[in-house]
Amino acid sequence: MIELAARLNLISESNTLKMAKLSRELAATGVDVINLSLGEPDFQTPQHIKDAAKKAIDDGYTFYTPVVGYLDLREAISAKFKRDNNLDYAPNQIVVSTGAKHSIMNVMMSIINKNDEVIVPTPYWVSYSEMIKLSEGTPVFVNAKVDTDYKITAEQLEKAITSKTKAFIFSSPCNPTGSFYSKDELYALAKIFEKYPNIFIISDEIYEHINFTGKHESIAQFDFVKDRVITVNGVSKSFAMTGWRIGYIGAPKDVAVACEKLQGQFTSGANSIAQCATIAALSGDMTPTQEMKKAFLRRRDLVLKLMKEIPGMITNTPEGAFYVFPEVKSYFGKSFGGTIIKNAEDLSMFLLNTAHVAVVDGDSFGAPECIRFSYATSDEKLTEALRRIKEALARLT
Ligand code: PMP
Ligand code: GLU
Repeated sequence: MIELAARLNLISESNTLKMAKLSRELAATGVDVINLSLGEPDFQTPQHIKDAAKKAIDDGYTFYTPVVGYLDLREAISAKFKRDNNLDYAPNQIVVSTGAKHSIMNVMMSIINKNDEVIVPTPYWVSYSEMIKLSEGTPVFVNAKVDTDYKITAEQLEKAITSKTKAFIFSSPCNPTGSFYSKDELYALAKIFEKYPNIFIISDEIYEHINFTGKHESIAQFDFVKDRVITVNGVSKSFAMTGWRIGYIGAPKDVAVACEKLQGQFTSGANSIAQCATIAALSGDMTPTQEMKKAFLRRRDLVLKLMKEIPGMITNTPEGAFYVFPEVKSYFGKSFGGTIIKNAEDLSMFLLNTAHVAVVDGDSFGAPECIRFSYATSDEKLTEALRRIKEALARLT
């Protein structure tokens, strides 16, 4: 066999996507699986956004798009940053990509040199660590546990900074914990960065509109760091558009230019129809998004209530996104039919095979004592899933 690239050994497969695949495969054999693994809204894209896409097809949006995205889309994004976040990003500081995942990869490839360190608070979204490694950097993890609402402090951050630190990446609201950094907490982190002017801050705000505290906060609001913050966002979560694949950044001009150069060789501009739909999403009626948020909040409360009835699941109260991330280590060492549950991966496979509920183990989020539930599914399915999980866990001895 001809050898494949060594680079593949640097990274592991995306565990969120792996569990979704296993869940689909089990369902294809006729098993009634409830899939709480993949993080994506179960809602349809709002009608006015679909209509804009249909119109784009009829209007002849057939051709290659500018690498950085249509100017009118970048103007709509610039207006969105101003309106929602009070941030000034001119259209030439904005790059539209094929999903926020792509946006983040562009940024990593644009700023990281070999052996540069990137600070990542744990638990973190699965792909951050692997993207850093693909960019030949070194992830440096700063651990936050359930007892601090899975948030790091300014002191922890400062301790992790070295002369090799090139960037910091975090999400708020956070996938997988739902934690949300308040304005004061962001200010405290920003004050540390003020002392270290050579560090980029990548702020992943893709769950901006799924925030139960009422008001989103961006770290770029602090003028003393703004010129090195890359604000990442996209339409997947807020507008139920995961399959449309549109993400974007607001960034310092030189970072935007670098991302354009990279993207021009990798993928070119993002899909023309989806870009037109995104203009409608960002400039249109937010009522559907507000309705989805209400449903997510109701489901969060439902899951937390049902989880309280399951012994040994310790969780925070997520303030955004659509995940619950309980610590489950009290189940490690228990067994079922002679098989010992050694870790979260074993527990998630046990839940898939015995309860027929797909969740994701915490290892790939940097928290091996936890598992992640996505509650972006119906109240009925959530109730049934938690019932099955409770029953299955009670069988462990
Ligand atoms: N950031 C976070 C925190 C995510 O959870 C996800 C995936 N859902 C993304 C980025 C990427 O989203 P997308 O590529 O669909 O825009
Ligand atoms: N980001 C979502 C999740 O965390 C979708 C899967 C992925 O892109 O990793 O489940």
